[in-house]
Amino acid sequence: MIKIDSINAAIITDSRGEKTIEAALSSGDFETKASVPCGKSKGENEAFCHTVEKSKQIISDIMPKILAKGYSDQNDFDNFLLKLDQTENKATLGVNVMLSLSIAFCRLYSLINHQEVYTTISQLAETAPGKFPLLFFNLINGGLHVPKSLFPLPFQEYLLIPKENSPKSSLEKVFSFIKILQENLVKKGLTINYGDEGGFIITGENPEIGFQSFQDILNKEIVIKDGFYFGLDAAASSLWRKEQKDYFWNNGQVEHSWNIDELTNIYQALSEKYPLLSIEDPFNQESWGDWANLNSKIGNKVWLVGDDLTVTNVKRIRQAKEQDCINAVLIKPNQIGTVSETLDAVKLVKSYGWKTIVSHRSGETNDSFIADLAFGVGADGLKAGSPLQSQRLVKYTRLIEIEKSLQ
Ligand code: PEP
Ligand code: MG
Repeated sequence: MIKIDSINAAIITDSRGEKTIEAALSSGDFETKASVPCGKSKGENEAFCHTVEKSKQIISDIMPKILAKGYSDQNDFDNFLLKLDQTENKATLGVNVMLSLSIAFCRLYSLINHQEVYTTISQLAETAPGKFPLLFFNLINGGLHVPKSLFPLPFQEYLLIPKENSPKSSLEKVFSFIKILQENLVKKGLTINYGDEGGFIITGENPEIGFQSFQDILNKEIVIKDGFYFGLDAAASSLWRKEQKDYFWNNGQVEHSWNIDELTNIYQALSEKYPLLSIEDPFNQESWGDWANLNSKIGNKVWLVGDDLTVTNVKRIRQAKEQDCINAVLIKPNQIGTVSETLDAVKLVKSYGWKTIVSHRSGETNDSFIADLAFGVGADGLKAGSPLQSQRLVKYTRLIEIEKSLQ
């Protein structure tokens, strides 16, 4: 039984310079901390988030109740938080309060039991850790993750994925690639700017430009020619216009719209032309039929990944299964609220035989919990942005630390 002696909440700053919450728990000689990220292109069905000031106040308000009892394990602690909250979308406590406390508890439990956080996670998820995820590096940022004044590409993320089982080799490979990509942008006379996730910004309207700049490098550098997959996060909910039933982008320089068939064709063409492993959020979060149509066309060779569609929520993941919309799910703990619920989502996705990609948010902190989560559940991927930004790099280096410790 774990008895918590004290709880503290602090307001810290994330990678965008926005305020977020860090919670600290102590039990005897042990103290742990956890901080929570924040999304920008958020799904409409994500759990509710209070302001940081209110979240800090809520943590002080519920502290006496949490301190009044002991907890046998993660599920026990998370269930107590859920009982305090009593809402479907975490409207009472808010996701920042619940997740910071839940992750800090997971670390406390691990410390007290003298085990790694990923071991605790694997026990809860009933998985046998051993395999490292593929790393999804977001090297070109677009969409809502770039200021309009820099004329971004319509799609949000162009991901480079080294074909490597080793996080150390993956990181080495991606750093070499980034160097060449940066040199190429400079050669083209472009100013180097970075988006929210530390990826480069390329100006333009043609969604293909991002992959062309990757492919140019692969064509020239014979050594690395076959070493990478590509991934795309279209984040299409942010482009959807309900009344016009189309996807629309105005980057301040040019306007463009695509109807559903045109966008479907774009994805199909990209998957034929490039080594495309995954497409995330190709359509709006409620356009289930359009997802199913694309899945029937390219689902046999591309991971079709639900993010805004599924929001790490078992109800929506089940609906995606019923309608045969996807074959992979993005797992973001702060879309749902607690470690236990996150693991329920992972278990369900795995039971369908689908791929799991654990993910950061566009506003990140130095917390590396998602690396332990990805390794602990044996996720197929970890998406944590460009390693040029320290809040992203810390996730990748945590995996490398695990890798070293197991050699
Ligand atoms: C995403 O859409 O996958 C993402 C990481 O962005 P955000 O955190 O802004 O939702
Ligand atoms: Mg996404």
